[in-house]
Amino acid sequence: MIGRQIKSIQQSLPEGVRLIAVSKFHPESDILEAYKAGQRLFGENHVQELTLKHESLPADIEWHFIGHLQTNKVKYIAPFVSMIHGIDSLKLLKVVDKESAKAERIIPCLLQMHIAQEETKFGFSREECLEMLTSGILNELQHVQICGLMGMATNTDDAEQVRKEFHSLCAFFEELKQTYFHEDSAFRELSMGMSDDYPIAIEEGSTLIRVGTLIFGQRDYSKKA
Ligand SMILES: *Cc1c(COP(=O)(O)O)cnc(C)c1O
Repeated sequence: MIGRQIKSIQQSLPEGVRLIAVSKFHPESDILEAYKAGQRLFGENHVQELTLKHESLPADIEWHFIGHLQTNKVKYIAPFVSMIHGIDSLKLLKVVDKESAKAERIIPCLLQMHIAQEETKFGFSREECLEMLTSGILNELQHVQICGLMGMATNTDDAEQVRKEFHSLCAFFEELKQTYFHEDSAFRELSMGMSDDYPIAIEEGSTLIRVGTLIFGQRDYSKKA
């Protein structure tokens, strides 16, 4: 079942779009099923769960941290994480840079933009993001690579609202690509789209979709994976 879902989503993806299988709260046996179907990119949003899974699962898995990351926990994932999607403050980015330097790495990071109507979702506003970029502070952070943007649409059945939010995120991404990052070919990822809205996200320019439920089924939040 898991393997079949992986294969059917993979086959439906246009060139240039990659699937991150979001395995949070699901057991290692489920991840191995996806792995056997050829999946190598996995997403998690709890540091402890991620470090345990990283230790016991195959070493060629690329682990993406996709949720809200607390600064005091960055050190546990800095040695191995492939990409951090949820950079939502300069403070966090500075800590990632510091821990990445200690691990003698350069960690690929995505800036999380606030695009949803809900107050609760994390992320930069457009103004905050531009202010950080034009301040020149990024030049001082040599151990993080800003590879693009990430966003989560409003949790709604209104597909047009979701499309509008993805569309504006993509427009901002293109704007940054042509201005601030115009000489930086690493700035090329747009992480948007989940189980319910990834087809819209792809139409609106996503390069990384983060899909959990559609692959692994409902998460059971009552037991820790
Ligand atoms: C859990 C999660 C997903 C996956 O959500 P599904 O609806 O299960 O596909 C994607 N992105 C983030 C940031 C998540 O926390």
